[in-house]
Amino acid sequence: MLDTVTAQTDPDCVFCRIIAGEIPSERVHEDDQVIAFRDLAPKAPVHVLVVPRAHHRDVRDLAGDPQLLAHVTTVAGSVAGELADGDFRLIFNTGAGAGQTVFHVHAHVLAGGTLAEREM
Ligand code: AMP
Ligand code: ZN
Repeated sequence: MLDTVTAQTDPDCVFCRIIAGEIPSERVHEDDQVIAFRDLAPKAPVHVLVVPRAHHRDVRDLAGDPQLLAHVTTVAGSVAGELADGDFRLIFNTGAGAGQTVFHVHAHVLAGGTLAEREM
C-alpha cells in the first residue's frame, strides 16, 4: 500500500530531496507539513523558501489544499518576524515564463531591507 507522503514525492525533484535530507539546506523552520530554508542565491537580506512537504507542482495545484496553502503563508509571516522586522514580500513564481525553475511549489519570503517595487 502506498502511503500518502511517498505518493506525493518525486525522486527527481531537488526540493523533495532537500525535504528527505539527501541535499543539505539551512533550515529555519520545519513541521509536519512544511519546511523553510534559506535560498542558495539570496535576493534580499532575508530570502527563505517555504516548501510544503507534499510535492505540488505550483501554487495553482497547492490551492487544491487551502489549509496547506494557508499554513505556508502563516509560516512565511512567522519566519519574517523571527529573522527580520516582520514586513515581507511573498512570491510564488508560477510557470517557466514567470521565472519558476523548480517545479515543487515554494513561497519566496523576502525581508530584512527596503524592497524596491520591481525587485524580484
Ligand atoms: P524559482 O525560480 O521561483 O523556481 O525559485 C527556485 C529557487 O530555489 C531559486 O531562488 C534558487 O536559488 C533556489 N534553489 C535552488 N536550489 C537550491 C538549493 N539546493 N538550496 C536552496 N535554494 C535553492
Ligand atoms: Zn518535489
